[in-house]
Amino acid sequence: MPRAWSLKSRPHGMPRGSDFALVEIDSAPLGEGEVRIANRWLSVDPYMRGRMNDVKSYVPPFALGEPMQGGAIGEVVESRAASVPVGTKVQHMLGWRDEAVVPGDQVQKLPDLGVPDEAFLGQFGMPGMTAYFGLLEVADAKAEDIVFVSAAAGAVGSTVVQIAKAKGMTVIGSAGGADKCAWVKSLGADAVVDYKAGDVVRALAEAAPKGIDVYFDNVGGDHLDAALLAARMDARFAICGMIDIYNDGKPQSLKYLAKVIGARIAIKGFIVSDYMARAAEFYRDMGGWLAEGKLQREETVHDGLDAMPDAFLGLFTGGNTGKMLVRV
Ligand code: NDP
Repeated sequence: MPRAWSLKSRPHGMPRGSDFALVEIDSAPLGEGEVRIANRWLSVDPYMRGRMNDVKSYVPPFALGEPMQGGAIGEVVESRAASVPVGTKVQHMLGWRDEAVVPGDQVQKLPDLGVPDEAFLGQFGMPGMTAYFGLLEVADAKAEDIVFVSAAAGAVGSTVVQIAKAKGMTVIGSAGGADKCAWVKSLGADAVVDYKAGDVVRALAEAAPKGIDVYFDNVGGDHLDAALLAARMDARFAICGMIDIYNDGKPQSLKYLAKVIGARIAIKGFIVSDYMARAAEFYRDMGGWLAEGKLQREETVHDGLDAMPDAFLGLFTGGNTGKMLVRV
């Protein structure tokens, strides 16, 4: 019997293992146009924490007791969709399970970029696209800019660092701990801030003595304060995520918000799905940088469907370098 994770109870604060249940699901016969997919790789992403709350947002909450969803990559093992024959490798959104039945028109065949399948859940997938459009479109970052990016050793952040370097920008990345900071430096960052080693406001002021033109925010909290204080005239902030508050919902301090007035700072939030129709631009440029040897990638892999909650929770304790994945 196929199995899937469901949400048993809505977490308050950091989720616990007991909030999740691994249940057997029906292996229903295929309807016309459907495909059966054996999932090989499953994604865990910070935004899934928001879906565990019963609140209206840009994606609906997970229903209690129902299989959860998320990015997944697998192989078609049975097909009633002529355009998606058995053996096709596809990406789809019925993750958190080992087998999925999906309408053939709701799966995407993996582009032929010469990278391993799992990369399409990370640098060559949704997180990479977030980095690309967030940096180049939302923040309108240019070669002469000094860019600060938080969670720089994660899936999105590590890609921001490398795209910014490929475009000739100066980059400062923050991450938790010496090992992660060393990795961010190895990706080409000009300076790094270990936010766990001391006050991030002071550390950024030291790392960016001339200030910053762009802030790519993955964290919120003190990082956003630090970026506001360091911002130069006409700085642009792409607000991508605020993982610092996903579990406790604590209010943002925004001690230096008044800086936006004098420095004419533009602050813009975005959701990557706004840019999906422009995926071809992302694949074109990423394929080019890959061929030029300008992109490195790392994945932190947990093995087995049973590991999903642990992998997910690891996102909030810095358990991943690069993209966090589960191999089924
Ligand atoms: P990551 O791979 O970056 O994993 C999360 C990382 O965040 C952890 O490894 C940890 O790294 C860091 N972190 C966790 N808690 C804190 C904290 N309290 N303070 C500082 N750092 C913390 O995840 P993603 O790359 O997938 O996502 C990064 C951000 O982008 C998230 O906020 C996510 O919600 C957002 N996002 C937004 C999208 C959009 O469309 N707007 C789309 C995709 C992602 P460390 O060890 O360095 O602390």
